[in-house]
Amino acid sequence: MNPYELDQIFRTYIDIQNQRKELENRAYDRKVLVCANGHMVTVEKIGVKSPFSKKRKRLASLELCPICMAKAEVREYRPPKIIKDIVAELKEQEKKLVAAMFEYVKDDPIWQFWLQYVKGIGPTHAAYLLSVIRTKDFEYPTKLWAYFGLYPIAVCEDCKAVQKPYRHGITCPKCGKPMKPKLPTKVVSKMYNLGTLGFDPTRRARMYVITMSLVMAGGVYGRVFSRWLIEDKANNKRTAWVRLAKLFLAHLYEVDRRIRGLPVPKPYMIEYGLHNEYIPPLIDEKPELITKTQFYEKLLSNMHYDVEKYIGLIRELSEKKA
Ligand SMILES: [Zn+2]
Ligand SMILES: [Zn+2]
Repeated sequence: MNPYELDQIFRTYIDIQNQRKELENRAYDRKVLVCANGHMVTVEKIGVKSPFSKKRKRLASLELCPICMAKAEVREYRPPKIIKDIVAELKEQEKKLVAAMFEYVKDDPIWQFWLQYVKGIGPTHAAYLLSVIRTKDFEYPTKLWAYFGLYPIAVCEDCKAVQKPYRHGITCPKCGKPMKPKLPTKVVSKMYNLGTLGFDPTRRARMYVITMSLVMAGGVYGRVFSRWLIEDKANNKRTAWVRLAKLFLAHLYEVDRRIRGLPVPKPYMIEYGLHNEYIPPLIDEKPELITKTQFYEKLLSNMHYDVEKYIGLIRELSEKKA
């Protein structure tokens, strides 16, 4: 399998997963209101947290149809079994696709030397990231960030001028005032009349899912996030997920470059580190076992980064306190 095929399989997986989730919504046993005019309205899903509004629940308690307000009766409704069967079949197909992705992922050195040790990154997230990094050449990490819509553009809040990309100290070409960095979001796009965003917004959405997976898994990257979240709360900002996504992508870039024997520029990453210094790619491993990993053997031992310092960093991040 080549990375283009991996990309196709990943997309197929996402399509089937979306379809399965939609069908799952339809397949729930539920309570419904049924009126004499033939309306049937769902009031509550059985066994799952109900997403329906208070108003609808009130109408249910009054036994009134939300559509025609006629007298209605609450009944249990079980959807046709065939829908549930198809949900189960789609789940089987998802499993097959995950297995196919893992066939590719397991042979890739980025997985073997690094990603296999990172909590929150399974075969599907790895498949997506590898399909991106193996089919395009990102000269600088900033290019990788920009690909995911995580690199800011420069804007002038006074005269609405825009420059791409943001550079430190950039000034407005119209009024000469310092410009501000902004992520290219839909809101920013409207406010500054950007027209297109310059990237596919589903990429940033996908990167958000991956970043949240790192956070929920509660590994080393999750703990970096917790620290940045504390900073966010103190400064009333919401930057932690973007910082974590950028750190993780910078590490992906670095690991790929090292495996390919290419030079790795360092200063770009420092502001994304802890204690304002460079932070190397992280792994979830017991500190005493780090030197037994492929990560150590193939990457860390050739990085000119002090091994004791690395072990100390992982130990520090592994401690429960934030
Ligand atoms: Zn009705
Ligand atoms: Zn200006």
